[in-house]
Amino acid sequence: MAVAEAVDNLEQRDRAIEEIAARLGVRAERGKRFAELTSLRVGGAIDWVISPETEAQAAAIVYELDQVGIGWRPLGSGSNVLADDAEHHYVVLSLSNMKGEVRIDGELVSVSAGYSLPRLCIDVARAGLSGIEGLGGIPGTIGGALWMNAGAYGHEIGTVTETVRVAREGQVVEIPGSSVEWNYRHTSFRDGELLLGTTLRLKPDDPELIKQRMDDAKSRRLATQPHGARSAGCFFKNPPASTTGTGKMIDDMGMKGQRRGSAIVSPVHANFIVTEGENARAEDALALAEEIRERVKREQGIDLEYEVELWRANSEPQMNTDDTDQRREEEGR
Ligand SMILES: Cc1cc2nc3c(=O)[nH]c(=O)nc-3n(C[C@H](O)[C@H](O)[C@H](O)COP(=O)(O)OP(=O)(O)OC[C@H]3O[C@@H](n4cnc5c(N)ncnc54)[C@H](O)[C@@H]3O)c2cc1C
Repeated sequence: MAVAEAVDNLEQRDRAIEEIAARLGVRAERGKRFAELTSLRVGGAIDWVISPETEAQAAAIVYELDQVGIGWRPLGSGSNVLADDAEHHYVVLSLSNMKGEVRIDGELVSVSAGYSLPRLCIDVARAGLSGIEGLGGIPGTIGGALWMNAGAYGHEIGTVTETVRVAREGQVVEIPGSSVEWNYRHTSFRDGELLLGTTLRLKPDDPELIKQRMDDAKSRRLATQPHGARSAGCFFKNPPASTTGTGKMIDDMGMKGQRRGSAIVSPVHANFIVTEGENARAEDALALAEEIRERVKREQGIDLEYEVELWRANSEPQMNTDDTDQRREEEGR
């Protein structure tokens, strides 16, 4: 990082953040905790939370932070993140205020990364557009859904993504959805890549039928998953080589209801870890998750992979390195 020396102590870094945020007119706050920003309601203090409201502001902010060597991580609704209890000395770029407006043009729907996925599912169903109604019960933002390739009940966001807007060198750049690898809860987006928005291509259908399918998906979810509980959805991915889902595997080991301090294996769905209490700790959720992994390994010989993202305070977020030429080549531009 060429100018990283400019912010080699915390005081200088803080002044640089204040100056950049003031110049770009973006809110920058101190004193927040992950416990306030994630659905598991656990996790330690964050040095800075910066909340851009437009795609252009977000692109400019991360460019400036990269220029001065300040590490940052994007966060949507925090419904798929388990941050540990320590102090996180980096900037969290909170995107849930970057909502913009949904623009519908025929079968194309353009939306900013901070917009709510459940809200968008309702908007497009009303407009008679089908393709994401199975995703209506997934909490979170469009940016988080794109990053994880969120999916449920036969729909995945990647299959309907026409283009993605990303931040490159301070600008909003549109890349084709076909240049992204959309895998099971994983994509080829790199750490340090900020997603600003997307255009989806959906299919016209009867709004009543779309709503019915969305309601069906929601009722199936309500019947099988805890609701109103503090969770991050499924904690582990389903193992590719197994015909048994992870939830069933954990349930068969008799672990439903198992507790570690403030964390519990949900009695409703064994692949959900839920937290309880005012002072719930990430440490408890992690210890319980590791206990599950060890038992599944010992008894089934399977290495469970986390679906939830673990954010460790002691691992620096990667910064956006200047590999624009390589990216252009990969995207065929
Ligand atoms: C009750 C419950 C049920 C769930 N059910 C499902 C389900 O059925 N299917 C499913 O797929 N998921 C499910 N989830 C998980 C979660 O809702 C999804 O992964 C969701 O898409 C995450 O969105 P978010 O905005 O909360 O992302 P966050 O949790 O805030 O972030 C997730 C990851 O995306 C990155 N990210 C977020 N925004 C951006 C951005 N703009 N640019 C770059 N990176 C970004 C973050 O850095 C992080 O790495 C469930 C969660 C809960 C709590």
